[in-house]
Amino acid sequence: MCLAMRAAKEGSMQLAKRYAMLAKRIAVHYNLHDKQIKNSICKGCKVPLLPDLTAVVVVSSSKRQIIYACKFCGRESKIKY
Ligand SMILES: [Zn+2]
Repeated sequence: MCLAMRAAKEGSMQLAKRYAMLAKRIAVHYNLHDKQIKNSICKGCKVPLLPDLTAVVVVSSSKRQIIYACKFCGRESKIKY
């Protein structure tokens, strides 16, 4: 995921998507249940979710969840804490 995040920061979204998908495929192949990988990729457009760069992050303390909204496709992912 580090390569995907670095590519996204440099502005190369196609490369960031490719690296993110490779990281996810490797995690699935080796049966890793890494929530960090799962929660850091947009399920709609496969872009790595980086706060302020590719995602808007909202912390809702009343519902005890963090909402990541993708800036490209608008899909929201909610993570409970
Ligand atoms: Zn997206």
